Amino acid sequence: MDIYDTICKRIEGFMKRDELLKEHTYIRIGGPADILVIPENVEDLRWLVAFLKKKKVRCFVMGNGTNLIFSDKGFRGVVIKTNKCFNEIRVAENKIFAGSGVDLMNLILKSAESGLSCLEPLAGIPGTVGGAIWMNAGAFEKEIKDCIEEVHYIDRNGEDKEEKMGFSYRESAFKKGDIIIGANFIFQRRERPVIVKEIEEIKRKREEKQPLDFPSAGSVFKNPDNKFAGEIIERFGMKTMRVGDAEVSSKHGNFIINRGNATSCDVRRLIQKIRDKIRKEEGIEFELEVEFVDEK
Ligand SMILES: Cc1cc2nc3c(=O)[nH]c(=O)nc-3n(C[C@H](O)[C@H](O)[C@H](O)COP(=O)(O)OP(=O)(O)OC[C@H]3O[C@@H](n4cnc5c(N)ncnc54)[C@H](O)[C@@H]3O)c2cc1C
Repeated sequence: MDIYDTICKRIEGFMKRDELLKEHTYIRIGGPADILVIPENVEDLRWLVAFLKKKKVRCFVMGNGTNLIFSDKGFRGVVIKTNKCFNEIRVAENKIFAGSGVDLMNLILKSAESGLSCLEPLAGIPGTVGGAIWMNAGAFEKEIKDCIEEVHYIDRNGEDKEEKMGFSYRESAFKKGDIIIGANFIFQRRERPVIVKEIEEIKRKREEKQPLDFPSAGSVFKNPDNKFAGEIIERFGMKTMRVGDAEVSSKHGNFIINRGNATSCDVRRLIQKIRDKIRKEEGIEFELEVEFVDEK
């Protein structure tokens, strides 16, 4: 019996061989994963991760795929999508526990409904709670870490842990390979209509500034010290610069959009061109905010 048959026999949920990862990423790029699994509960996910480790099979845990660019050749191993397990949201006084598979926007709406304020500036970020914690997502001068009491995760040895640890700009200590289960968020009480109004305002600002009508992976580069990567790119006239179907958005210089059939190679080449120009003209080394996932 091969690995796929064993997984099918043992766990519930969606499982498919040779599933195209472009179907699971916001930017709609990525070849086939040997196996894609969307477990439906935490126990199955735990079993799966331990099983793959024992069998020495490479695996990659993803949320909504809004920050990811998989290789055009796909992924050799097993990709695990967490948006169907870890779906719990529990409100208790001024705290909310949210599982890592919860849509960040659902958590924000739930907190608004409960008159709890903190995460509003992050409204409209399209990922899961797990993905947002992994990269300490942020917007409008707020980062997800600012609202976290502690994170629940499974460490690399399969042990359950709870702590608030190592966050900085678009960085967290979880990048070393832990699996985030969820987090306890802590809020301030505020009038519900005030919170809702702020959420609407933030969403309006996003629609105004970001090319939300095209597939993308969000901001391509981290902002260098006290500067905006998008503004620098715009200043050098690189809006609408294109490689294949990958294009620097005319609306926001730090977004690369997929105009139809962009490949991972197109995006990489376009990024290379931008980096080379900015290094030469400004002496700045742009760091990636989007994440490329290699085939092997
Ligand atoms: C239109 C648009 C706007 C965006 N705006 C913003 C913004 O304003 N600010 C911002 O910070 N980001 C922004 N992003 C980027 C992205 O939406 C966020 O980073 C989001 O938090 C990623 O969540 P995800 O579930 O999609 O993660 P994925 O893209 O699926 O994964 C990202 C990383 O997180 C890891 N990960 C995901 N879940 C887990 C888990 N449970 N355990 C361990 N690791 C995990 C994955 O392994 C991967 O390395 C934007 C993206 C788009 C497309």
